[in-house]
Amino acid sequence: MARLARVLVTNDDGINAPGLEVLERVAEALADEVIVVAPEVNQSGAGHSLTLRHPLRVRSMAERRFAVDGTPTDCVTLAIHHILKGQKVDLVLSGVNRGSNLADDVTYSGTVAAAMEATLLGLRAIALSQVCEDRRPTRWATAEHWGRRVVERCLDLGPEDGWAGDVLLNVNFPDRAAASVRGVRVTRQGQRAPGEALVERIDPRGEPYVWIGGLRGEEHHAAGTDLAAVAEGFVSVTPVHLDLTHHASLERLRDDLED
Ligand code: MN
Repeated sequence: MARLARVLVTNDDGINAPGLEVLERVAEALADEVIVVAPEVNQSGAGHSLTLRHPLRVRSMAERRFAVDGTPTDCVTLAIHHILKGQKVDLVLSGVNRGSNLADDVTYSGTVAAAMEATLLGLRAIALSQVCEDRRPTRWATAEHWGRRVVERCLDLGPEDGWAGDVLLNVNFPDRAAASVRGVRVTRQGQRAPGEALVERIDPRGEPYVWIGGLRGEEHHAAGTDLAAVAEGFVSVTPVHLDLTHHASLERLRDDLED
């Protein structure tokens, strides 16, 4: 594997998240220079949103470590066009997210969105997430061991090998010890049934509020999906592209709608 000159690391859990440190260590093993640009506070669920209505502040935390008071997409944009302006970035890594980014999570995920933004800017990008259960310790050692292995392998891949320029890789590590992970599976996005867990309560001042809770319904573990792979103990790697066009409908809709 060729050593990289510069890797940008970001996330959506925020600059102080433990998963960010895990990913920094993965990056440091591969690159001469690692730059971290991450949101000041947790931005989970921010999706591919961009801050347009207020200015952004960049806070220098340490050498090559910056916090931005915006979204993951803001972080990538500011990193490339401002903080690292004119400097070549060889790879963007986003994560490691605490919790899965599988199936329909992909468009809600700030972790995946940071990788999307990097892809739009012409950079190779990988999003990484560690599957875990609420109120249980996160298996960061699994993410670190398998993250390093998967990212290293990906670096040897070019467009001729199956990693096209407009594609990001969405990687999820199963919730089990590194030694009992069964290997790597390349998967497609799965589907969950829509959940409906809203918490409806009254606040201390007597006003009602609604808090979005578990919107993840029952999982369909169809063969070949990301959901099935992690449930069976594999690392899931899903190639994702930003063209959301449903190509199979194109011709049929043309016949139906065009004059
Ligand atoms: Mn997150």
